[in-house]
Amino acid sequence: MAKITKLPEETIPKIAAGEVIENPASVMKELLDNALDAKARFILVEVEDSGFTKLKVMDDGEGMDKEDLSNCFGLHCTSKIKSIEDLTSLRSLGFRGEALASIASVANIKIRSKTLATEFGYELEVVSGVMKELKPIGVPQGTLVEVSDLFSEIPARKKFLKDPQTEYRSLLKVITGYVLGHTDTAFKFSHNGKLVFNFSTTQKLQERVLQLLGQDFAASLLDTTAADTHLALTGFITKPQTTFFNKDANYLFVNGRVVSSNVFSVAVKNAYGKMLESKVYPGFILHLNLSPDLIDVNVHPQKATVAFWNDEEVYDFVYKAIKQTLDQNDLTFTQGYDTDILHTPVGAAPFQYKSLKDSLPTWRPEAPQEEITGPQLFQINKTYIASPTKEGLVLIDQHAAHESILFTEYSKAYANNFNKDARYTPETPFFVELTLVQMATFNEHINVLFDLGFDAEPFGSTAVRINSFPQILKDHNIKQVFSEMLSDLDEHKKVKAMDVKTNQTIAFLACRSAVKAGDILSYEEQKNICTKLENTPDTYTCPHGRPVKILIKNSELARMFKRIR
Ligand code: ADP
Ligand code: MG
Repeated sequence: MAKITKLPEETIPKIAAGEVIENPASVMKELLDNALDAKARFILVEVEDSGFTKLKVMDDGEGMDKEDLSNCFGLHCTSKIKSIEDLTSLRSLGFRGEALASIASVANIKIRSKTLATEFGYELEVVSGVMKELKPIGVPQGTLVEVSDLFSEIPARKKFLKDPQTEYRSLLKVITGYVLGHTDTAFKFSHNGKLVFNFSTTQKLQERVLQLLGQDFAASLLDTTAADTHLALTGFITKPQTTFFNKDANYLFVNGRVVSSNVFSVAVKNAYGKMLESKVYPGFILHLNLSPDLIDVNVHPQKATVAFWNDEEVYDFVYKAIKQTLDQNDLTFTQGYDTDILHTPVGAAPFQYKSLKDSLPTWRPEAPQEEITGPQLFQINKTYIASPTKEGLVLIDQHAAHESILFTEYSKAYANNFNKDARYTPETPFFVELTLVQMATFNEHINVLFDLGFDAEPFGSTAVRINSFPQILKDHNIKQVFSEMLSDLDEHKKVKAMDVKTNQTIAFLACRSAVKAGDILSYEEQKNICTKLENTPDTYTCPHGRPVKILIKNSELARMFKRIR
């Protein structure tokens, strides 16, 4: 019997919508693109319940007339291109004519729009996939799109959505890009009736950076400009003192479109060379402009990346431009916020930047003492501790071992609610600058962090005040451990259950505070790890599942040397 049948008509757009509309953030992205394509100068975004119940985008752009409004939900109906050749001169963000059609197939959507030419506007609604009658309505020029009950009729899709906090963070990440990239447009954003930000067009980019990415970022911006025959680069990069543990603070705009590009990010990162540790990334807000025929914008369902006509040329150009910026600027680590638009929050302690090397987490339980008073131990490749024992040769992964020890210690301390003496209260509290997205992560985990010994509270919209933290972290660069932990928590979005979340937080904390591969350890430090490991029973793998120690038995050594068979 034949097994191929054509899908029912109404199923086709729902399947296609999966590519474009993945979550509330992708709905918002498409609506922001449309508003900007309509030359909006003011965009209002109001979201409820992370966009699940309501996501409203209002603009003051050119609007749609009656006929356009009745056509805008048609699949592949667009005013932006007439043929595929038009892509070579594309200046608009949209071009596929599938966003509104896709949204209408997975949510209820209402659009009100009015152009300059008409006296009043029109409203059109699609409810449960059924288009209602077009109604005249008195509205100002521009367009209002209200999307509600996203995926409510598609349980299979809803299942794959993350928890509301994570979806809210995705919304924040997306809108941050638009706000940073389009400074000639005013943006107002609120969530559950609470204003998150309101930027006018008269404010400088730095003001937006300050509110969205925090004071550290704003204070370390370096101006970058470069041009060659067909590429132009403008914007800002951060001094090497401001780093991130993922590429989230890499804001790239290619001809105004927010995209991510590996070639581009790698070129920027490589230009910093040894100034940055291998795992960290700088922040940047950069616009790359080039002729539209030198890029292919049609390579990703959500238009999240572009293909360049020649990757090497882009790499070389960006690498040189960034290197030049770094060469020409004073990169001395600055203390505090020295830009004129910045203000120091009352009571904030000045930031104390150490050199990069000094700020690496170290773990020195006791003063190094080289006199050997215990078992024979030595370090191999600054990564493993070797210890000859009666049974054979024990090899210990220094990071995995220390991480496991700390994991057990933290778990115990957590179970005892980090009683007072396990917490350390510095004389003056620490202030950690965070981006708006990191703040959302912090707020989400505030209780777990408290139970882990961090008495921390929001300090304004992009800073956290740490009043006390686990005693065990006393000798660490607490700001670094804290922001690394938040990045880790942000990356692992899927965790929903609280106990799993707690366990993961403990694991991250342990990982971040443990000695690293590459750290030179004194004899005492090696001994300390070995002793503690012995006292931490059943420790065979680290919280990430890698082995902690390997025993090469005497019999195995004998076999290797062919003493026995
Ligand atoms: P695309 O943006 O790829 O053309 P969409 O489905 O996003 O496809 O939108 C379809 C059409 O509806 C657009 O081409 C545009 O003409 C019109 N449109 C959508 N949103 C707006 C808006 N905010 N203002 C004016 N016109 C809009
Ligand atoms: Mg569009």
